[in-house]
Amino acid sequence: LAKERGRSNYQFFNERLSEAAFHALTVETRLRDAIRREQFVLHYQPQVRVDTGAVTGIEALIRWPQEDGTTVLPNDFIPIAEQRGLIMPIGAWVLRQACRQNRLWQMSGLPKLPMAVNLSAIQFKQKNLVSVVEQVLAETGLEPQYLEFELTESMLLEDMTAIAKTLEGLKALGVQLAIDDFGTGHSSLMHLKRFPIDKLKIDRTFVQDVPGDPDDVAITAAIIDLARNMGITSIAEGVEKPEQLAFLRLRGCEEMQGYLVSEALPAEAMARWLARRRGEPLTSVG
Ligand code: C2E
Ligand code: MG
Ligand code: MG
Ligand code: MG
Repeated sequence: LAKERGRSNYQFFNERLSEAAFHALTVETRLRDAIRREQFVLHYQPQVRVDTGAVTGIEALIRWPQEDGTTVLPNDFIPIAEQRGLIMPIGAWVLRQACRQNRLWQMSGLPKLPMAVNLSAIQFKQKNLVSVVEQVLAETGLEPQYLEFELTESMLLEDMTAIAKTLEGLKALGVQLAIDDFGTGHSSLMHLKRFPIDKLKIDRTFVQDVPGDPDDVAITAAIIDLARNMGITSIAEGVEKPEQLAFLRLRGCEEMQGYLVSEALPAEAMARWLARRRGEPLTSVG
């Protein structure tokens, strides 16, 4: 009996494996096509001050629109792109497109804001990242203080000397650096001491259950205090409810981002949102 079960498990495993492999292969082929035809789009989510509601920045988030009208979200294709060696062209496109869009908005008279771009670990490890960024800034005419990179804690773990060199190279260009999803990875406070970080993004999983969950309250408040005491900007991710905003305000979190303010919007909708918001910065939040 055990032998039989073992065998059927084996077959089941095999089927599942080939199904997953087949899926990845299909996605890979379609991704290659999408890269060639530049079929990705960026959506933009605003970041605002917790105390006044004033807009402080924008995060660029990639989307992959399909012919049937649906959209594939990054968690469903970025990991495959990373595994299949396709993240570099995608990341390069995102960087250029985000800088270009930001520059266009600035030239159209909208307020100048930093645009945050998420970096993949593979992009971050590329030897010539600093010069690639410098080149894109020069090409698009965007001033460096209006570009921000979001890194994750896992990217900061390996070769401390090499990482410090990259981060210092980016800072020397004048761009901003944020740690995304802070608190969910291998958080080492050493990183904050060692590396030139401007912003801590408090992960949505902590923000989600404040003020109800005492552990999340403790963690969120600790990150806010840590950031403040080190002169780093704190920003809460995934703020959906007025109670969360009230808590963040009470604890002195500086900035926030989330559905309570706005979801990520296509470029035209974001431009309208920014134009509208400029007239009434204090009213729409909380
Ligand atoms: P992230 O950088 O932590 O981005 C936040 C994610 O939370 C986004 O999902 C955003 O749409 C979503 N979000 C924002 N506010 C709320 C909220 O109030 N409630 C909830 N439930 N969700 C909210 P998205 O766009 O699906 O992106 C997922 C992840 O994919 C990102 O997490 C980021 O790690 C990655 N990603 C997105 N764009 C890029 C990119 O251009 N390059 C790379 N390498 N990764 C990207
Ligand atoms: Mg991010
Ligand atoms: Mg995040
Ligand atoms: Mg997150």
